[in-house]
Amino acid sequence: MKYILTVSLFTICLLDSTILKSQQINQKEKLQCDCLQSKIRFDNSSLEKIVIHPEEILNNPDSFWISDSAYQLVKLWHQRVSLPIPMDQWKTWIQSFKDISVEEREKNSQLIASRNMLKKEKEFNEKAVLYLCSFLPKDCPINTTIYFTTAIMASGFQMGNSIVIYGANSDKDNLFIHELFHQGFDRYKPINLEKGSKNFTLNQIYNDLQNEGMATYVGYRALYEFPNYDPDPKRDDYGFLQDTLIFERLHDLLNTVLKKVPSLLETEKGQKELQDTLWQIGSMDRAYYVIGCYMAKVIDEKLGRQALVETISTGPQSFLHKYNSLVDDKLKVFDIFE
Ligand SMILES: [Zn+2]
Repeated sequence: MKYILTVSLFTICLLDSTILKSQQINQKEKLQCDCLQSKIRFDNSSLEKIVIHPEEILNNPDSFWISDSAYQLVKLWHQRVSLPIPMDQWKTWIQSFKDISVEEREKNSQLIASRNMLKKEKEFNEKAVLYLCSFLPKDCPINTTIYFTTAIMASGFQMGNSIVIYGANSDKDNLFIHELFHQGFDRYKPINLEKGSKNFTLNQIYNDLQNEGMATYVGYRALYEFPNYDPDPKRDDYGFLQDTLIFERLHDLLNTVLKKVPSLLETEKGQKELQDTLWQIGSMDRAYYVIGCYMAKVIDEKLGRQALVETISTGPQSFLHKYNSLVDDKLKVFDIFE
């Protein structure tokens, strides 16, 4: 497994450095593979276009969806979550920007927040890179653009090497930390099982738990330096973490579904039910975020940061086993692999 990881990282680094002379390659690779060389860029051109020039977009919506960098990703997000693009509704959202005067458009709060964030790009990089790298393998750089846009259905999402943030969240620096952690985490995909196999599905479930859990933990720990956290009350992961009743309920829900996984995987109907249940409990009810965050917190506090970071390269089973070895039976997360 380690061998595969080393090769894939090496390939990523090599691709970017082929233009360099051979004696420079080693140093260049080293630099590009250093987490501290991560670069985070902000881009609000999509939001500017929608708020300031909505008539141009409405004149040719198809061209906007094809040419706008943020909207290219929004289209992919709709495919990923199997949600059709509500084109008629979307046009009414854009129309609402057209209906106001040019002076009013300049006062749009989403636009102002994004412009302010753009001014802080350098300062954000200095703080965020150092912080994020303390939770990632040291050769795991993040090179990403955070696009600010509006009139979309997601509050924020990560797609490939990019992040898209809904305009109203342009100043939510704590949310960026969560999404940026995913970028680093995704660089390490230790799962090398055949897609569609039973073990792939099992690994994927625990991978989602670890990925969302660690990203939530990294955001939670960042509250002091990146305090702008203002979630929908239904998604108040940090609050849920400290609410014993909610925490216990989520823990029970997660373990109940995990116990049912082997039997559900037996049939096609069961697989569909599993997918729906995991989406509901893991994502909508927030079990992946809250329970996964607690797991990361326990490992970090009891075994130290290095042990937590190691679980990124050793994979979701090791994250699960490390956590379960540190807690009482009633707090354990059900282990399907046992
Ligand atoms: Zn996330």
